Amino acid sequence: MPRLNNETDLEYKHRVIDIKSESFCAAKWYNATIWLGSGMTTSCHHPLPHKVSVEEVAANPKALHNTPKKKAERAQMQTGERPAGCEYCWKIEDIGRDNISDRVYKTVIYEDKDLDYAYNLAADKDVDLQTLEIAFDRTCNFACSYCNPAFSSTWVNDINRNGAYTGLVSDGRNHFTHAHDSSQLYRFGETNPYVEAFFKWWESDLHRSLKELRLTGGEPLMSGDTWKLLDWFQTHDTDMRFAMNSNLGAKDDLIDRMVDASHRIKHFHLYTSNEATGLQAEYIRDGMIWDDWANNVEKVLANGNVEGFHMMCTINALCLSKLHVFLDILLQWKQEYGADYPTFTLNILRFPSFQSPLVLPDELRTQFRYRIQAWLDANGSNEFLHQMERNQLQRLIDYLDIVKTPHMGAAEQSVLQQDFRQFYTQYDQRRGKNFTKTFPELAEWYNSI
Ligand code: SF4
Repeated sequence: MPRLNNETDLEYKHRVIDIKSESFCAAKWYNATIWLGSGMTTSCHHPLPHKVSVEEVAANPKALHNTPKKKAERAQMQTGERPAGCEYCWKIEDIGRDNISDRVYKTVIYEDKDLDYAYNLAADKDVDLQTLEIAFDRTCNFACSYCNPAFSSTWVNDINRNGAYTGLVSDGRNHFTHAHDSSQLYRFGETNPYVEAFFKWWESDLHRSLKELRLTGGEPLMSGDTWKLLDWFQTHDTDMRFAMNSNLGAKDDLIDRMVDASHRIKHFHLYTSNEATGLQAEYIRDGMIWDDWANNVEKVLANGNVEGFHMMCTINALCLSKLHVFLDILLQWKQEYGADYPTFTLNILRFPSFQSPLVLPDELRTQFRYRIQAWLDANGSNEFLHQMERNQLQRLIDYLDIVKTPHMGAAEQSVLQQDFRQFYTQYDQRRGKNFTKTFPELAEWYNSI
């Protein structure tokens, strides 16, 4: 077991990590996110992604993860130096000596013997992954307001047809001004050498070393490579945890095929996203048809072989007024299918910052906070809620109460509000939507911006 009985995070860190070095983190060796459409990778979600050499993967598929950059950073971590790209962790640790950063949580999931192996391995050697998130391509039938063309081909169509969104001051990274062609280097039907390398590595070693594989997108159900992978699972017995992010808005035959495939996967987890209901959900997650989505959730819950079903709620400015209605629906599903079906997380949107809850004026934010508080007061002791879910609700309530200023790196609130108006005015025109009709409670404020 990675952690001894009752061992605290700090005790674990002292016993296992600190004796290696002051900067050791197993994610550099055993974890990766790889975007095969763009040939980019990173170790965890914090360091910025970097490019994988197409020549190197042609000669050695393991170079998809074992890049010269990661190898150099492993060498740094073996000697206690801090790779600059991991500053997220260093900042947290520098607040106080005993502060626990993500590198502890990203390390504790692996066996001690594997950590020793990584620590002692010559830094120029390749390692096989144990936990991996991959995206084959960005094909997606949705174009959610908080997404962008790097992750959705439908978003690309919006930009290619209508041009850049204009007048956005706080979108420093220009998410909405171009088609992000570098996110999809190979066209549909073209051979993608990164995908080829992935399947080569999968066949040779990866299917044995991986303990967890998570497939993301785009919408994975729309990628032929997903089905190639699922075919593998149909004919091989494995203890690997296989998770998929899906918007659950794909055509019926694809949903049925996934439900069918789930029966031949031992540990299948499905993650889907939503945070609103009806027309409001369809507005935020453009492309969704609420009734179809809700039916698909029920189809998977009733007929699929899912070890876990997880609802990822992206908490943005538009969902707060009716979040309690969505929570009621989640609770109904839990009561029908069990406390884990679904579980939910409330992920507070930070970027694009003009869509974050902090764009709302105090009086609206307070009003919506009271509604969420009232829901928690009424349902907090419900046996189908997990403590983690109660904590997430309380965290959101506290956030809406206390955090008044935008996040570091975000513009001030008045600028965000201008961008909010700019963006949704153009979004309405391009997508045939109507903000004030869809969100009547926000209309007066919206018209005053
Ligand atoms: S040190 Fe922190 S930022 Fe770097 S890979 Fe580990 S968890 Fe991620």
